[in-house]
Amino acid sequence: VIELKNVTKAFGQKTVLDDISLDVMSGEVVSVIGPSGSGKTTLIRTINALQDIDSGSIRFHGDDWIDTERGYRLVQSFHQDVVHLGMVFQSFNLFPHKTVLENIVMAPSYHGMGSTAELEQKALDTLAKVGMSVHARKYPHQLSGGQKQRVAIARALAMEPKVMLFDEPTSALDPELVGEVLQAIELLASEGMTMVIVTHEMRFATRISDRIVMMEDGQMVAKVTKEELFAAAPDSRIKKFMEQSE
Ligand code: ATP
Repeated sequence: VIELKNVTKAFGQKTVLDDISLDVMSGEVVSVIGPSGSGKTTLIRTINALQDIDSGSIRFHGDDWIDTERGYRLVQSFHQDVVHLGMVFQSFNLFPHKTVLENIVMAPSYHGMGSTAELEQKALDTLAKVGMSVHARKYPHQLSGGQKQRVAIARALAMEPKVMLFDEPTSALDPELVGEVLQAIELLASEGMTMVIVTHEMRFATRISDRIVMMEDGQMVAKVTKEELFAAAPDSRIKKFMEQSE
């Protein structure tokens, strides 16, 4: 579904993405792990075109999405058509002056994806999925961090994305609230949603991912399938990093 080829990005002298290539297949869950500052957030932002790149290309469903060689950038039409990528940020980014329901209905309504009644019903169904329907009429400030993040997930889902991107979705949460958000993400995985997840939650990453990739200093230093991870020698880079992060 997503194909990154030789993607490079530098901020000043610092190369943050150093010749990154990655294919994500339909229905696959790929977790991105690695130390702080290794380029994980930048990587996921490039996939969603929130971050421009210096060289390389990103294709989506075989369509050129961003191709620096040819100066090709379909971002505009892409967003105007249907937003295929849903993104969930560390910091929720809900609209504070809108209710939960309004937060969710806003984008699909703007894109003419149905009548208000239809979209509200769909929003309620999605909220039920993340265990938040009883809070539909509340405002973000009345919710806990975990609840806000579950609303943010529902809001991304409302655009019926083909792929969900998560940038450290639990790192701003108190430890006791992490589980409920991971559970919501895990449910999506079990339904076959294609996902790329930047996370520090190692146990979760191991459980949920088909593949884990590790970033270090802007480079993708390891890529393993779940099977390879479990079979890996104890000194494999990913395994070592995971054990240190436990
Ligand atoms: P963390 O786990 O701490 O979030 P990360 O692996 O997600 O880290 P990035 O946020 O991608 O890492 O950042 C990689 C490097 O790029 C860091 O050194 C960071 O300071 C730098 N960086 C990121 N965004 C910018 C920017 N807009 N301008 C300049 N430098 C940046």
